[in-house]
Formats: sequence, structure tokens, C-alpha cells
Amino acid sequence: MKRGRIFSGARPTGRQHIGNYLGALQNWVKLQDDYNCIYCIVDIHALTSLEDTRNLQNNIHEMILDWLAIGLDSKKSILFVQSHVPEVMELHTLLSMITPLSWLLRVPTFKEKVKLQPDNVNYGLVGYPVLMTSDIVLYKATVVPVGEDQLPHLELAREITRRFNNLFSYTFPEPEGILTHYPLVVGLDGKEKMSKQAGNDIELALSAEETIEKIKTAYTDPARRYRTDPGHPEKCNIYKLMFYFNSTSISAIAEECKEAKIGCVDCKMILATAINKVLEPIREKRAELANNPKYITEVLSDGADRARVIARETLIEVKKNMKLI
Ligand code: SF4
Repeated sequence: MKRGRIFSGARPTGRQHIGNYLGALQNWVKLQDDYNCIYCIVDIHALTSLEDTRNLQNNIHEMILDWLAIGLDSKKSILFVQSHVPEVMELHTLLSMITPLSWLLRVPTFKEKVKLQPDNVNYGLVGYPVLMTSDIVLYKATVVPVGEDQLPHLELAREITRRFNNLFSYTFPEPEGILTHYPLVVGLDGKEKMSKQAGNDIELALSAEETIEKIKTAYTDPARRYRTDPGHPEKCNIYKLMFYFNSTSISAIAEECKEAKIGCVDCKMILATAINKVLEPIREKRAELANNPKYITEVLSDGADRARVIARETLIEVKKNMKLI
């Protein structure tokens, strides 16, 4: 017996990297056994900051390949693209009528986005939390996996839900967050979060050789200018990544680093070998899936069909409760 329905989504950023894998995807795979999961590629959300959409379809395709390769299962979960179920946009319009503008203007990420894209402060950017709420409540999700930084968004979704239920009649369950510890995976430059834009990532789909080459470029402890310099593993990103991929030998590596018994080149090779070992079966599965584009289309189309059944039912209930029908 499953514990409830989960909704989670991600923007179509294309090929996924190990930051995505460690930060969310691994957890999504585990949740499939305990919950009815709906995982969505949120392409409409992407439009709030994307003016050039030429790569959008390709990004969606690459992303679903990675999702399936890491173990998201279209039999256990609903996997689909947000715009393939347009009911979400209808619900977004309806919920926007009951959401005070002041609630949206105080959202910290809105203020951040205004700074980041001052020439593209579009209407969708303000309404983003309403669309996010629509994503969740359209499918009557009861649980949303969140990192601590996303709690304010979820609270706003809960406020909108409560307001709707109070203004009309009880329609939506208030979504609960399950707090997940998402490790902050720092990029290979050691400076910021691993991301495609920063170019400091390791894509899951890279070959073993490409992975080794990427890791060779990684930033380590700056104190180790020479092989004989003692290191500070706690300041080194290679060491942090080792924790996720080669945790059994981590304490030995820390000691050897501190005593300058191991060089960074050797250490990077240990990490690259460990990452390649974990990614090998994922890459094989991905290559198999990439050879079968018909199957990928079917997965997304079947996911959208299953999502739409729930969406249509909810929307009829919403309209009845709002006396629109
Ligand atoms: Fe980092 Fe390993 Fe070099 Fe130590 S030996 S600084 S842990 S890469």
C-alpha cells in the first residue's frame, strides 16, 4: 500500500549531471516504491527565463533519456511533459484569480530573478508560484519532496490551496513537504554549485574517457602546489565527491592527502574510476534507450494520457466548486 501521491518536476535542462543525480534523481528513484509518483518536465516554467527555445525539444529528449537510464520507471510512475497536459494552464488562470499579488511579489526567488534578468521581467515570472501550485494540486498530490531552500515555495502553495478551499469548498489536499537532504554538489571549479551554465559539471552521459578528462581539470586544495605539500582534504572538492562515489576508502585518502602520500593526479584517477563504475550501467541503459526513440515518445505520451485523466477530473471539480459550470 503506497503512502500518497508525490509530484515533483524539473526544468528541461537537457543532459543531467552528477549534481542532478545526487541532488534529486537518486531520491526520486527510491520514492517510487513508497509513493505514487508523478515526475514532470516543466517546459512552461522554463519559458519564464528562456527566450531562445530552439533547443527545447532536444533538451526534453536528453533529459527523459537520463531519467529512464537512472531508474525512473514509467510503469511505477507517471513521467510526462508539463505542456502535454494543458489543463494545468487553465487551473493556473483560475488560481491566479484568488492569489493576492502581494503574496507573489514578496517571494524571494522573484526578486532574485528580477536582478538576474532585468530585461525580461515577464508576467509569467510573477505568476510562477501559482503555476507551481497548479502543477501540484491539479494531480491532488499530497506530498512534495523539497530541500530546505524550497520550503517557502511550498508554504505559498499551501496558502493558495487553503484560500481556494476556504473561498469555495474543500477541493485540494494541502500538500505536505517531505524534507530531503539534497547535498550541495560543488562544481569542478570548486567555486559554485555544479551546473551546466557554469560548465563545471560532469554529465551522466559522458563516456568513461571524457569523465576522466573532465575530472583531470578539477580544482583541488590550492595548498598542494607540489606533490610533497601536505593537503587539506576538507577544502578539496575531489574529496567531497569521493564521499558519494567511493566512501569506503575516504578516511584512508584523507590521511594520505594530509601526509602527502598521495598526489592529486592519482587521487583524481581514483575518483574517476569510482564514478565510472557507478555510471557504467546507466550509460549502457541510456545508449539502449537512445536507439529506440519510438519507445521514448510512447513513454511521454502514455505519461501525459495518465496525467490527463487525473487533471480533467480535478478541473471539473474545480469549475463546479467555483460555480463556473
Ligand atoms: Fe584533494 Fe586528493 Fe589532492 Fe588531497 S590528494 S588535495 S583530497 S585531490
